[in-house]
Amino acid sequence: MKIPPRIAMIGAGLGGLSFCRVLKDRGISVKCFDKSNRAGGRTSTRAAGETAQFDHGAQYLTIRNPMLRLHLESWCNDKIVAPWDARFVAIDRPAEFRDVTYEQRYVGIPKMEDLAQYLSKDLDIEFDTEVSEVIVEPTAYRLRSKAGQDLGVFDMILWNCPPAQTAKIVPLNCGWKDQLKNVQMEPCWSVMLALESSWKVPFDGAFINEGDLGWMARDSSKPNRPNDLDCWVLHSTSKWAEKNLDISKDDVIQRLVYEAQRVTLSTMPKPILAKSHRWLYSRPTEALNQKFLWDSEHRLGACGDWCGGPRIEGAFESGMALAAQVLSSIDGKLV
Ligand SMILES: Cc1cc2nc3c(=O)[nH]c(=O)nc-3n(C[C@H](O)[C@H](O)[C@H](O)COP(=O)(O)OP(=O)(O)OC[C@H]3O[C@@H](n4cnc5c(N)ncnc54)[C@H](O)[C@@H]3O)c2cc1C
Repeated sequence: MKIPPRIAMIGAGLGGLSFCRVLKDRGISVKCFDKSNRAGGRTSTRAAGETAQFDHGAQYLTIRNPMLRLHLESWCNDKIVAPWDARFVAIDRPAEFRDVTYEQRYVGIPKMEDLAQYLSKDLDIEFDTEVSEVIVEPTAYRLRSKAGQDLGVFDMILWNCPPAQTAKIVPLNCGWKDQLKNVQMEPCWSVMLALESSWKVPFDGAFINEGDLGWMARDSSKPNRPNDLDCWVLHSTSKWAEKNLDISKDDVIQRLVYEAQRVTLSTMPKPILAKSHRWLYSRPTEALNQKFLWDSEHRLGACGDWCGGPRIEGAFESGMALAAQVLSSIDGKLV
C-alpha cells in the first residue's frame, strides 16, 4: 500500500475546514494551522462577560446551492445553526424602512462561530500558529511558524487565507501566485454595543444604502442569545473604512453610532459597553472566476471566499471543490 501524501492546510476558516472534513471523510488526514486561538476566521464571535456577545464578522448564513442545503438541514437537526426569524429592512433615506425580499437567514447557535467549532471536531488543527515561511525542499515543503518553530515537512500545501496573506508565503515557483494580485479585499469597521435599554427601532437587521454604515443588526434578536442586554452590531461601508483605516477605535464608535441615529432618526439608549474591530480583509470586491487555485506540478492550492464567492457559502463551495481536486489528484495512487 502506498502512503497518502502529507497535506497541510494553512487557515481554519470555513473554506479550510470544509476541505479538511471532506478529506477526513475519505480517511485522509490533513494537518491544519491557524494563527488564531480558534477556528472560524471571519465568522468569529466576541464575548463580553456573560451577558453580552457579538457576531462581529459574518452576520448570518444563506445557502442557495442544493448540495449545501443538505448540510444545512443536518446542522439544523443537530442544533448547530437555527433560522434567524427577524424583521429585515433596507434604509434608502433616513427613517424610511423598506422590507427586503424574504430569504431565510441562519445563524450559529448560540454563537455564529459554533458552526466552525462543530466542523473542526476531530480535525488535526494547531492553533496560535502563524505559518510565516514555506521552504521549498528537493521533494517536499517545510513549514515554519512566525515564532520560529519547525512545523514539519509536507508533500502538498494548501491555503485558506485572504490573498494578501497567502501571497506573503506562497513559494515563488507556484503557478497561480500572480493571480493573487487580481483579488482586492475590502476593509470594514465593526462596532459592538450593549445598550442600557432596548432601542425602539422597527427592525432587527437593516441594509443601509446611504451614508457611512452598510449594515446594522440587533445581535440579541438571534436565537439562543443571552437576552439580558440589547446588543447591536454596526458595520461601516468599505468606502468609509478605507478612508478611516487608522483612526482611533473610539472615533469609529462615535462616528458609526452617530450614523445609526441619523439614518433611523432615533436616539439610541446609552451604551454600557462599546467596542470596535477592524476587518482589514472583510470580503472580496470581486471574487475570482474560479472555485479554487491549483498547481498540480508543485502540489499547491488555495481556497476561500475570494475564489468561491464573497459569502460563507462561497467559502464552503471553494473548500469542497479544492478537496475534490486534491482527491482526484491522489486517487488511484493510494492502493
Ligand atoms: C464584517 C463582515 C461581515 C460579513 N457578513 C457576512 C454575512 O452576513 N454572510 C455571509 O455569508 N458572509 C459574511 N461575511 C463573509 C464571510 O465571513 C466570509 O465569506 C467567510 O467567513 C470566509 O471564510 P474563509 O474560509 O474563506 O476565510 P477566513 O474566515 O478569513 O479564514 C482564514 C483563516 O486563515 C487564518 N490565517 C491567515 N493567515 C494565516 C497564517 N499565515 N497562518 C495560519 N493561519 C492563517 C486566519 O486566522 C483565519 O482563521 C462577512 C465578513 C465580514 C468580515
